[in-house]
Amino acid sequence: MIPYGRQTISEKDISAVVEVLRSDYLTQGNVVPEFELALSQYCGARYGITTNSATSALHLACLALGLGDQDWLWTTPISFVASANCGRYCGANVDFVDIDPQTYNLSVDALKRKLETARQSNKLPKVLVAVHLAGQSCHMREISSLAKEYGFSIIEDASHAVGGKYLGKPIGSCEFSDISIFSFHPVKVITSAEGGMLVTNSSELAENLALLRSHGITRDASLMSSAPDGEWYYEQIDLGFNYRMSDVHAALGLSQLVNLDDFIARRHSLAKRYDEQLEQLPLMLPYQDPGCYSAYHLYIIRLKLDKLTKTRRQVFTSLRESGIGVNVHYIPIHRQPYYQNTGIAYDPLPHAERYYEEAISLPLFPDLSLSSQDQVTQALVEALQ
Ligand SMILES: *Cc1c(COP(=O)(O)O)cnc(C)c1O
Repeated sequence: MIPYGRQTISEKDISAVVEVLRSDYLTQGNVVPEFELALSQYCGARYGITTNSATSALHLACLALGLGDQDWLWTTPISFVASANCGRYCGANVDFVDIDPQTYNLSVDALKRKLETARQSNKLPKVLVAVHLAGQSCHMREISSLAKEYGFSIIEDASHAVGGKYLGKPIGSCEFSDISIFSFHPVKVITSAEGGMLVTNSSELAENLALLRSHGITRDASLMSSAPDGEWYYEQIDLGFNYRMSDVHAALGLSQLVNLDDFIARRHSLAKRYDEQLEQLPLMLPYQDPGCYSAYHLYIIRLKLDKLTKTRRQVFTSLRESGIGVNVHYIPIHRQPYYQNTGIAYDPLPHAERYYEEAISLPLFPDLSLSSQDQVTQALVEALQ
């Protein structure tokens, strides 16, 4: 089976991990801060805080932004469930903004309309999670000006998007958001096996995130309510978690970072090749926004069902039977039983519903060979007939 995504691990990556295994510190050593510094600098953000997953990073971001149980978090329905669950971890209500039919990211127009209505009913969101689907940035400048007008905070869920750019700047610069988060799950753009990172330009948020990541415990005397009893002394000043990344994981992430630009260049060249091979088929190919340079985590096609006799399910099954590990990103989150049972009456999300009927993710990863890619194209041509 040719998978839809796969990590690329070099001998250099393996040596970097082994080196940590031979060292004194497997966790809470120097490699975590090195990785945090390297990626935050790459993004042009002031602070980087690693976590053991992007899901924990999203949870911490919501906590640090003060999200609580009377609040609303809004996000896109076309994402992994973690983009919404972070709101529920804080007891907040979660609602969804429909997608743009061209980019499949959260639609700025739909957001504007929903904010208007929410203002009237006093249900404005406290936090918006903007997800850069497939690695292409949302229209952050417009979203950020709405955030100023309506007073909500912005988390960029850039799980797909490390290494991408928006208006010439790296995704994660946080120019138009409070916090951006990345995932280093093996299927994503670079990996630390499991892992995530938050980046921000706010020293206050960064300090709070670091505290919450490690039990809410501080060794900084200036934050304590009593004078230290001795050198062993620490205080727990908030309710935090153990969401730390280990140095073993950070070593892999840091080593992978060196290859990030090459990985993305390779993804772009494979994507361009798909564009050329698939151009004549009854498909909608991934639209590339002129202001964006996608990290191309996913290559998503949409079937033009009115020009086909097959359903998405038939095409999907036929591809899987030909050994092509296609996938669907994503089942709209509001359709999940958990979200159906929250008692919230979601507004209609017609673009997300339609997208879900038509979308298939084709294999795309740096090590995908041209002959495997040709096999995917051939199988797709046959599946559509
Ligand atoms: C993968 C993913 C996550 C969660 O990442 P983990 O590191 O596996 O916790 C969150 N949001 C999106 C959009 C993702 O694709």
